[in-house]
Amino acid sequence: MPTTNDIRNILDIQDKHITFLDNCVTIGDFKGKSCKFIDCTLTYHPESCVNCDVPNEKFIVFKNGTQTSRVTYPMAGIYPTYLRIKKQRYLCKNCGKSFTAKTPIVKRNCFISNYINAQILDQSRNVQSVKDIAKDTNVSEATVQRVLTNEGECIRPHYHSLPEHMSFDEFKYASGRMAFEYINVETGDILDILPAKDSRYVTQHFLSRYSLNQRSNVQTITIDMNASYISFIPKLFPNAKVIIDRFHIIQLLNRSMNKTRVAIMNQLNNSNGENQKKYRRLKRYWKKILKKANNISHTSYDYYRLFGQRTEGAIISEMLDYDPKLKATYDLYQSIIAAVEANDYERLCFILNQPCSSDVSTYLKTSLKTLRKHLSAIRNTFIYPYNNGRIEGINNKIKVLNRVAYGYRNFSNYKNRILLHFKLNPNTTQLSYKKNEEHVLAA
Ligand SMILES: [Zn+2]
Repeated sequence: MPTTNDIRNILDIQDKHITFLDNCVTIGDFKGKSCKFIDCTLTYHPESCVNCDVPNEKFIVFKNGTQTSRVTYPMAGIYPTYLRIKKQRYLCKNCGKSFTAKTPIVKRNCFISNYINAQILDQSRNVQSVKDIAKDTNVSEATVQRVLTNEGECIRPHYHSLPEHMSFDEFKYASGRMAFEYINVETGDILDILPAKDSRYVTQHFLSRYSLNQRSNVQTITIDMNASYISFIPKLFPNAKVIIDRFHIIQLLNRSMNKTRVAIMNQLNNSNGENQKKYRRLKRYWKKILKKANNISHTSYDYYRLFGQRTEGAIISEMLDYDPKLKATYDLYQSIIAAVEANDYERLCFILNQPCSSDVSTYLKTSLKTLRKHLSAIRNTFIYPYNNGRIEGINNKIKVLNRVAYGYRNFSNYKNRILLHFKLNPNTTQLSYKKNEEHVLAA
């Protein structure tokens, strides 16, 4: 039967019990829209009765009428497509009950083919709203949400154990609320996402889900410099060392250096022509001031607008000479960055314990205070190879999902979507973090 084989191939149907006849495709109307109906028959010789399991010998199970069901199918061509399957009914003499022929393309009592389910899952890997997925797959939003929820159930966190190395972070979601998330820092697997980040909620979560034994297994936890986490970590994870994410240390220093530059630059923004020039230079070359000392070139000459033909090092030192405060802050900034880059804990302690020059800006002084407070955790930063790169990458992706998939009033749906997204797209996290770091560090 050439018709059946060809149509099966077109529709990717492997079930040999489905047959198509000539002229089985018609254009019709459904829910007020033009659509394509494809008629087919499903019949076979059952080996046994599905109700009582009696082997089908000597026609104990016999054919008894048909039942037609309309099944939503992925679009073939430009019209929404429905399979009209004429399913064989069977009656069993042994138990007197009847049943309908089954096919792997659609679940029992279901009117949406498994192909659509697969399509929905496939689409959900992209950053796309439920509404758009529903439109593309020709089903309702409720159906899309149901498929995602069912699939999400399978990848729900199971609270059997905790890994040795974890990473904590938080992110904003609907109406400015904060969610808390923890991951396995080595594999990047999301372990769970909680709808609140306050310490009472998070503490309760860990206490109720994990035994002391499981919590004792945790060796390190990487966090950013958010004090609210630090307070409950020793209580919950007696053996865990806290690691401050390296990126956040650098970012803290970066910000205070930049604020210093802006403050000095704004003082120069007056009617004095010479000051105006300095102002414009400091404004234009803000990245140069933040650049790590060992990346600055002192040998190659380039043309710099507002300066002329100079080396990079020369324009930086010229700008630093505008104000002793800028120079003092810059020197201290560079020496701390160098100590952090070199993982030199002794040197960092030495710098932090020295009395600060009065010329150093209050911005940097405040940052130093923060570093002093977290010194023991920063020591761990230098010892362990872990950072918050993966979790930050995950959060960037979540923010995008949040923007596109607005309308997640239900946190559990939102969480499902996130978990599903990362399950279907492994390896997408590390990259976006790197981009982020480059932006701040101003290569
Ligand atoms: Zn039976």
